Amino acid sequence: MRKIIYPGTFDPITNGHLDIAERASKLFDELIIVVASNPDKDPLFSVDERMDMIKKSTHQLKNIQVETTERLLVDFAKDNSAMAIVRGLRHVSDFEYEFQMAMMNYHMAPEITTIFMMPDEKYIHLNSSILKNIVKLNGDISEYVPTYVLDQLHTKLNS
Ligand code: ADP
Repeated sequence: MRKIIYPGTFDPITNGHLDIAERASKLFDELIIVVASNPDKDPLFSVDERMDMIKKSTHQLKNIQVETTERLLVDFAKDNSAMAIVRGLRHVSDFEYEFQMAMMNYHMAPEITTIFMMPDEKYIHLNSSILKNIVKLNGDISEYVPTYVLDQLHTKLNS
């Protein structure tokens, strides 16, 4: 059983995240999406809300699970018998931080491989923060998030 984990803040999940999750889920037997609480980023949605949106957005993909952890990611990976971590790379600007994280994780757990994937071109400029700002100003982001996520964003930001 080849398992991979996909960690992130997912505040909220976008079609760019989903593009990476789908690609990784086809290459491995099981993908665990791991929601980090990430209080430093002052998330709009609680961990439970973020997990709920991910579950609803991935229900058609049978080999995806959704979890959260307060622990070191490599420890979570080992405890769940995962052999790899996947992260998305959009621009060169993502690279420096991701490179440092991957090297630190190799230092702590050399047996767990970090894999980077690029999303489809149409999602390359997407990030959750930009989408939240557009929704606040009543812009249309329907092509970038699942319908359920769009509804949750409008409820949270515009009601
Ligand atoms: P984090 O705070 O861990 O960066 P994010 O939720 O912002 O959490 O992102 C989680 C992962 O998904 C990261 O690897 C990020 O590069 C990737 N990602 C975010 N948005 C996109 C996108 N539009 N296309 C591809 N990957 C993405």
